Amino acid sequence: MLKFRTFALMAGVALLGTACGGPEASETQAPVMSWEEFQANAFQDAEGKWIIDGDLAFDSKEELRGFYDNNIAEEKGTTQGGLAVYYIGGDIKWSSTQKGNLTYCISTSSFGTRKTAVVNAMNSATAAWEATASVNFVYSSTYDSNCTASQTGVLFDVRQTTDTSYLARAFFPNSSRSGRNILISTSAFGSISPWTLTGVLRHELGHTLGFRHEHTRSTASGCYEDSQWRALTSTYDRSSVMHYPQCNGTQTGDLVLTSLDKSGARSLYP
Ligand SMILES: [Zn+2]
Repeated sequence: MLKFRTFALMAGVALLGTACGGPEASETQAPVMSWEEFQANAFQDAEGKWIIDGDLAFDSKEELRGFYDNNIAEEKGTTQGGLAVYYIGGDIKWSSTQKGNLTYCISTSSFGTRKTAVVNAMNSATAAWEATASVNFVYSSTYDSNCTASQTGVLFDVRQTTDTSYLARAFFPNSSRSGRNILISTSAFGSISPWTLTGVLRHELGHTLGFRHEHTRSTASGCYEDSQWRALTSTYDRSSVMHYPQCNGTQTGDLVLTSLDKSGARSLYP
């Protein structure tokens, strides 16, 4: 493993320094409880409310089903897929309107002769997510000449940085405009085999859609970060595009979307 890969990719400073502590993330799949079994354990009280677990009330069977889908079905492994979405009291993701218009510019002045390579890599990396989830990235080259953190004509900016502590870094959907940047280090244009710039951007774009590092789903990865995430499905994916290979991962080639990544992305952006 190449040394530079140890801290190669980051989602931003908010995730740094949180590698220790927090509850454990279990990799164990619990037995499946079907909707029928779950329903059989619920009852209607004198008020007509649906009751489960002794004292949890739901107004209707629809609400009961919602609770089952959100809290039981995914924990019990009735669906397959990977990925974990950033979660702080709710999913951190783009709205149904915004997800179809994720605009960005690519700084002409900061990349110079490398700009074409970045344009091509962004095209390929955005296409990978667009092909699997209902999201749409839009390259607004009109703003390339003034592609800064304060450019309000786009949702986010893509710029070069001389910071070599990472290959690139990105942001989550709840970031303010000034924090919504994909910064690509000059080191990402060197020899980063078996990765490519496109692969690195596939990972970074995953963060921009709200996806956390897959390795934070397991303390066994050695790279547990915190518990602010919600597993989109029950299957932990060591080969995920969002999993650092050096964190007990199994991806040995470029960073690509696995079939589990694809089903996880589809479940968040159907
Ligand atoms: Zn990352």
